[in-house]
Amino acid sequence: MKPILEVSDLHVTFRSEHHEVKAIRGVDFTIHEGEVVAFVGESGSGKSVTFQSIMRLLPQPPANIDKGTILYNGRDITKISETEMQKIRGKEIAMIFQDPMTSLNPTIRVGKQIAESLMKHQKVTYQEAKDRAVELLKMVGIPSPSERVNQYPHQFSGGMRQRAMIAMALACSPKLLIADEPTTALDVTIQAQIIDLLKDLQTDTGSSIVFITHDLGVVAEIADRVAVMYAGKIVETGTLDEIFYNPRHPYTWGLLASMPRLDQTRDQDLASIPGSPPSLVNPPVGCPFTARCPYAMKICQEQMPETTKASDSHQVACWLQHPDSPKVENPIVSRR
Ligand code: SF4
Repeated sequence: MKPILEVSDLHVTFRSEHHEVKAIRGVDFTIHEGEVVAFVGESGSGKSVTFQSIMRLLPQPPANIDKGTILYNGRDITKISETEMQKIRGKEIAMIFQDPMTSLNPTIRVGKQIAESLMKHQKVTYQEAKDRAVELLKMVGIPSPSERVNQYPHQFSGGMRQRAMIAMALACSPKLLIADEPTTALDVTIQAQIIDLLKDLQTDTGSSIVFITHDLGVVAEIADRVAVMYAGKIVETGTLDEIFYNPRHPYTWGLLASMPRLDQTRDQDLASIPGSPPSLVNPPVGCPFTARCPYAMKICQEQMPETTKASDSHQVACWLQHPDSPKVENPIVSRR
């Protein structure tokens, strides 16, 4: 599969008068054509900031890409002008956000908002764009689309607003769709419908999808590959099966152990990872998970582990992968 997005050594810092927050600290990954890659991790791990930086949606200042390359179809988009970026944003790469109510303009009819996106990137009349908006609303499963196209966002339910956001993102048939926690604000029934919708759209259009979430249950439903982020770094990446059935990083073990299970009885507490992520104002020099890791060794505090290969598709940044480290068994049995 051909790479569509290649990110190398990305560093993003937020600077204020008194502080620097090193939010992204050397992130590398590749997204290939037609694949679905999930980025998982706790809040503040850098998932959303990574993709908002790629889309140049962060205000600069305070945000700044200090270092790194972002190749979209082989072209470094860190070096192009804002005018050129506007041609890519929405047309080639589109983003769906967590809360459609804050992303949709409450004062403009939904159909007009979709039509405006089409008219911006394609040479179509308003009527043609509006007709296409009706088709898109139908495609994402909005009932009575020709009436709904004239309604305002507040006249849509939460699930319908999220579908409308997806319709807007798909308006120009983007090659890469970035879905940032698109189901977090929805109840589980609607969540399942939105995931099914994204899966169907991916099969029909062949677009690549990046799915940002902290919900491993959602990941199991949709992803081909998974990247686990912690404290501004990718600490483990692999295929869905490698991450769920053969995870290697203690943080991934913690995340998987925290998933609710059907065989869990009411008197069994839900597992959690003790402690909290480190401050990224003064990030640790060694492994950022040291303070929370039950397997931490002296070297973990002193030196960041190199990323090592567990297979061609599976990479892990943990000192336990070193041949001289003590052997630790994966403590969890995963179930999807
Ligand atoms: Fe734990 Fe050390 Fe591995 Fe970090 S490098 S996850 S502290 S064992």
